[in-house]
Amino acid sequence: MEEVRIKVPSGKVLIKEGYCPNGCSLMNKDKLVDGHPAITCLVRVRGITGHIHFNPFYGTFGYDSDIKLREGDIVGLYCPHCNVSLTTEEHCNMCRVPMFAIQLPDGGEIRACPTVGCHKHHLTIVDLDAQFAELYNEERRPKM
Ligand SMILES: [Zn+2]
Ligand SMILES: [Zn+2]
Repeated sequence: MEEVRIKVPSGKVLIKEGYCPNGCSLMNKDKLVDGHPAITCLVRVRGITGHIHFNPFYGTFGYDSDIKLREGDIVGLYCPHCNVSLTTEEHCNMCRVPMFAIQLPDGGEIRACPTVGCHKHHLTIVDLDAQFAELYNEERRPKM
């Protein structure tokens, strides 16, 4: 299959499903951000482990963490269910550290830099048609 990388307008695409490499859902219905389940991962920095909740709107860079993160910290991200590392082989071309990935349905994924304050990230779409239909579903729904 073809790998396609797209740029999407910040905050426009709602991530409705995200998984770890083992298939656990990272969506957290107990933690809502802007009315939608956050993407929750384990975060580890300077030997401390906590939870991080990402804003599910792609490109907003919003997060909420129960441990203190400082600008420039390089965090480790793990699945909160099976503890698998979310780190990939790809390095951020600004910080030179391995990026982490959240798997999307149908083979797409979001990759982002684990350096706090670095906004390098991209969305990798494998099955473009299916993925787009799914991602933009929420957007097309008429607003009440
Ligand atoms: Zn898992
Ligand atoms: Zn970076």
